[in-house]
Amino acid sequence: MGYKIEQDHKNCIGCGACVAICPKFWVMEGAKAKPKKTEFDDKDLKCNKEAAESCPANVIRIFKDGKKII
Ligand code: SF4
Repeated sequence: MGYKIEQDHKNCIGCGACVAICPKFWVMEGAKAKPKKTEFDDKDLKCNKEAAESCPANVIRIFKDGKKII
């Protein structure tokens, strides 16, 4: 593990970008997306980082060992 995802769920606009980019970790639930898991390791960093960077509402945060990296 090592990385944690946080999403400001209420401010997700449901654009689906995170789900399109990183379907292993993100799923649509009704009109908003949510993370399937909140912890991941190095091999899934790229996918989640791209999802966070692509989020137009800027509601995805990634933490490594408790420190915000995105
Ligand atoms: S990219 Fe951001 S705004 Fe769009 S569905 Fe994912 S979390 Fe919501």
